[in-house]
Amino acid sequence: MKTGLITSDTYQNHNTGDGHPEKIDRVTVVIDNFKKLNNKNLIWKKPTNFDRSLLEMTHNTDYIHFVEKSFPKQGLSFLDGDTIVSPGSKEATLDAVGSIIAAIDGVQNKEFQNAFCAVRPPGHHAEKNKAMGFCIYNNVAVGAYYLLEKYKLNKVAIIDFDVHHGNGTQDIFYNNEKVLYISTHQFPYYPGSGTEQERGKYNNIFNIPLPAGTNSEEYLNAYEFVLKKIKKFKPEFILFSAGFDAHKDDPLAQLQLKSDDFYQLTKRTLELSKICCNGKIVSILEGGYDLKALQESTEMHVNALLEFY
Ligand SMILES: [Zn+2]
Repeated sequence: MKTGLITSDTYQNHNTGDGHPEKIDRVTVVIDNFKKLNNKNLIWKKPTNFDRSLLEMTHNTDYIHFVEKSFPKQGLSFLDGDTIVSPGSKEATLDAVGSIIAAIDGVQNKEFQNAFCAVRPPGHHAEKNKAMGFCIYNNVAVGAYYLLEKYKLNKVAIIDFDVHHGNGTQDIFYNNEKVLYISTHQFPYYPGSGTEQERGKYNNIFNIPLPAGTNSEEYLNAYEFVLKKIKKFKPEFILFSAGFDAHKDDPLAQLQLKSDDFYQLTKRTLELSKICCNGKIVSILEGGYDLKALQESTEMHVNALLEFY
């Protein structure tokens, strides 16, 4: 089977300023590595243009207007203390969302079995009406709504293994029984949310807070809980909020995962997905700030996607 790799060059024009951890090179090292690996089963695809109404399912209209007006003609503009946009961010933010749309369509049309979107800016901290933590539009949330609306699915699961809690995704789906959101993250830590008590209106939110220093074995044990919840929910489609900043070399957090752990967690999820949703999985890049660790970890993650069947 084939795996889709969705990306475009527009991320290169999303400039966050000198010294910002969410920098252009992050996606470049990932893309360059996949070009070098040249796996024939990797199907390269560009993001899709999409209707604005898709964004409006996820974000308030006022917020979308605010974002659209915030892109500067020149220089940089701050949406919050660490979320920065430049003139080129407009296209990059739309392409990040358009990537998950292209990936979902590709899986649904059987162009490929599963897909990975190599994009920036990331999305999981963006709430219904708030930019936050390098995130502007919540890419994975738009993907989930797209599955519910366009493909009329009733059960979509989002697994968020970024080291930070996806407060934005939780906010957007807190009252939506059709979406199961499960997050493993360092806690207590940025953004502050993500306790076990935050369960969603329909018990559709599961948070797995982990202490700083959590190692591979402890993490993979905790991940069994994620799989247990997926098994029970029986989703029709699984989305990964794929952040690789739980890696031991990541400068922004203190979990101790190795690159190979991202292969392990992906493989275990894929095995389960064969039973519940015919292996339909789309993954989208969130964090990961050590370039070498990010390059290795995304390779491991995509290797597991490619090995499916
Ligand atoms: Zn993160």
